Amino acid sequence: MNAKPSTTRPAGKKSLDRREMPCQPPHERRSNFEEVALGYTKEMALEEASRCLHCKKPFCVSGCPVQVPIPDFIASLAKDDLSAAYHIIKSTNSLPAVCGRVCPQEHQCEGKCVLGVKGQPVAIGRLERFVADSFLHAAADDCPEALPRRGGKRVAMLGAGPASLTCAGICAAKGLAVDVFEGLHEPGGVLVYGIPAFRLPKNVVAAEIGALRKLGVRFHLNCVGGRTVLLQELRQDYDAVFIGVGAGLPVFLGIPGENLVGVFSANEYLTRVNLGRAYAFPEYDTPAFPGKNVTVFGAGNVAMDAARTALRMGAESVHIVYRRTRYEMPARKEEIEHAEEEGVSFAELSAPLHFDADADMRLCSVTLQIMALGEADASGRRRPVPVDGKTRVFPTDLAIVALGTRANPLLLDASPELERTERGYIKVDETTGETSLPNVFAGGDIVTGAATVILAMGAGRTAGQEICRRLVGE
Ligand SMILES: Cc1cc2nc3c(=O)[nH]c(=O)nc-3n(C[C@H](O)[C@H](O)[C@H](O)COP(=O)(O)OP(=O)(O)OC[C@H]3O[C@@H](n4cnc5c(N)ncnc54)[C@H](O)[C@@H]3O)c2cc1C
Ligand code: SF4
Repeated sequence: MNAKPSTTRPAGKKSLDRREMPCQPPHERRSNFEEVALGYTKEMALEEASRCLHCKKPFCVSGCPVQVPIPDFIASLAKDDLSAAYHIIKSTNSLPAVCGRVCPQEHQCEGKCVLGVKGQPVAIGRLERFVADSFLHAAADDCPEALPRRGGKRVAMLGAGPASLTCAGICAAKGLAVDVFEGLHEPGGVLVYGIPAFRLPKNVVAAEIGALRKLGVRFHLNCVGGRTVLLQELRQDYDAVFIGVGAGLPVFLGIPGENLVGVFSANEYLTRVNLGRAYAFPEYDTPAFPGKNVTVFGAGNVAMDAARTALRMGAESVHIVYRRTRYEMPARKEEIEHAEEEGVSFAELSAPLHFDADADMRLCSVTLQIMALGEADASGRRRPVPVDGKTRVFPTDLAIVALGTRANPLLLDASPELERTERGYIKVDETTGETSLPNVFAGGDIVTGAATVILAMGAGRTAGQEICRRLVGE
């Protein structure tokens, strides 16, 4: 008799195997924008939760930038008390459905889990996502009751990314009047314009923003700090200001031909597709730029997002060009694997020399310098060095440059009184997030340079708590 394999393990036995996350099959997902990772079922989540050892000294917590009480929420989940698990997570993490999807857990909580020493760590991120998703639709109703307005004190946020959203939530929950000024037409920052829907569905971000609106936070969209509204004006009208404008200015290669039709920065390409909904053209009127043979430069998460987006936009071939090998790629391992499964190819040990044009000045190819790995550099990674006389021409009609970003000068140039670091970011007091101007705070990528969602949220939390301490005494 063929016994059907059981999906649960015998009672009382702890599993050594981590529960895999079901995903859309690669051949299907490469042509749609639906979420790739489908999330645990309740049965899977309870089983994975049962692997946690509830360590007396939980290293996982020290690996979490906002110190979610991980063993406590997993214990509640294992007892099937989802509500308790959710409230434990929310006590320190205001965007758990987002973090459960996009945090680099392998370098944070899961990277420190004791089970990872000899085997596989508890899938903390997946469990966080499961718990948060169970409450997603209730998130707006479940947000903490705002305290009655405190003496008319007002706080302004510049930018509506994870740093500002976190700071706004903390301030509004304490009864402060909060106004958020965002340059784009939708709040959410990189969560809506950068990270594609197949990794982070937009309804997840919308639910979190809905909760803030319910708390009384007011969003002023299409409002650019340094142009539509000046920092100096905000300082006059508000008791405190938080600056969370990110670091959205793209870095380019600086090679001949970069201004040809068909060469994009990853930020522009992803913003057109994600925020502008170019994938739904002509239903949305953002023109899609159709690329048949696409080349992406860079090998971080942004490059993987751009490459996988180009596939879904109908490209026949997508290559990631990188001057080292795939083993040195900075992107998350999972993202590299997902990209490869979907059909993205890797042109390793190659660096672009120049873009080439056809008769209409449109991009038609890129000439690549072949590289080899030399001695290790200061970072410990082997340095890529050109192999003399070895080049190769790569046909391409859409090139996407994903080399990183810097601080956008729009607000900073209009606010010369703000002290900056040598790298051009805003200088803050690390313990409070306060800038060189009294009661003006900053956090997220505009302070650290391009980093992560959870670090931006941590900075928003630090500043939010300090603002509340000063304005309402808590
Ligand atoms: C494609 C992509 C993929 C990523 N993937 C991940 C990931 O998987 N995991 C992860 O942890 N991190 C990821 N990151 C990084 C992460 O998204 C950022 O570190 C994080 O969003 C920074 O948050 P923030 O609030 O500082 O800024 P942002 O998210 O950049 O938000 C800043 C907001 O300010 C607005 N703004 C800018 N200038 C002005 C102005 N002058 N006036 C008004 N508004 C302004 C912007 O429009 C934006 O909405 C990714 C980044 C990109 C680009
Ligand atoms: S370190 Fe791992 S096993 Fe220990 S409490 Fe944290 S998640 Fe559980």
